[in-house]
Amino acid sequence: MLKVVKAGYHGILLPEVGIGLDYSGSKAEYIFISHAHADHVPKNRKLSVYATPPTASFMKLRGFGGEVKPLEFGQTLKTDKARITFYPAGHILGSAMTFVESEFGNLLYTGDYRTPPSPATEGFELPDAKIDTFITEATFSLPIYKWKTEEELAQQIRTFASQNLEEGFTPVFTAYNLGKAQELMFILKELNHPMQIHGAGFKLCKVYEEHGFPLGDYETYNRDTCEGKILITPSSALGTGFASNVKKKRVAYCSGWAANESRQTQLTVDELIPISDHLDFFELIDLCQRLNPKKVLITHTPNPKVVQHYLDELGINSGFLDLEAVDNE
Ligand SMILES: [Zn+2]
Repeated sequence: MLKVVKAGYHGILLPEVGIGLDYSGSKAEYIFISHAHADHVPKNRKLSVYATPPTASFMKLRGFGGEVKPLEFGQTLKTDKARITFYPAGHILGSAMTFVESEFGNLLYTGDYRTPPSPATEGFELPDAKIDTFITEATFSLPIYKWKTEEELAQQIRTFASQNLEEGFTPVFTAYNLGKAQELMFILKELNHPMQIHGAGFKLCKVYEEHGFPLGDYETYNRDTCEGKILITPSSALGTGFASNVKKKRVAYCSGWAANESRQTQLTVDELIPISDHLDFFELIDLCQRLNPKKVLITHTPNPKVVQHYLDELGINSGFLDLEAVDNE
């Protein structure tokens, strides 16, 4: 079994093979970045790293100053100590699971992932091999989190937009700038109604278009012309004046956390849409059962004991890799 070391903020180091995963330190010869969300991108902006081409584009657009070497899905990089292959993770465009094979055993690191995959991603695919060590994120790993189907959520999203437009209200969706925003646009484009997206998310949309994911009729947010359009913005911008001039608007909060209805009392929104870019608790347990690895290491979880209890019941050996859980992206 490969030795796994927690290494700083969200990083993982495999010291025997000189590999860092979402890693910012200096002890790895090769660093692989799972996806472009800020909590997985190295803080050290001078590093040289490997990532999928969409992830490389997002990192550059968001200001990463180091070298990003592209590694396509399914293309294997060979080093003197290991073979490394990316597999699609279904989380956001370009998101990858990293599969490491070595004389010490193999390891699959999920990064953030979703199965069934987001429709605005390359899908979800597993290596065709028996896994020794499975490092999995577990952001929504409590049995209160069971997602609706993609079709049900898409219906809720389109209905919220079209009904409010019919009633003369401007629909506003709150979502992260990278991933969730574009997934919403991918779903909403079927309505053939103009959309405006917050500037920080707008600049990332072209990467989706370049990789074959058309996002419909959209432009960057413009306060003077936004009324009557479908609007998409991070929720933080609503507090700082986004569309504050539009009196008749209704707001939908789009997040896996929306499934926890106690959140409703904390938010002043009109609709909760529990669409997540992570897998739910039941998919996680099911996947562990299907893979049946020698060991599952759990990260990013509200409570590792819950997942570990269920894995114990299935006879699957597991441990908690203590990375800091964050309530974002
Ligand atoms: Zn993420």
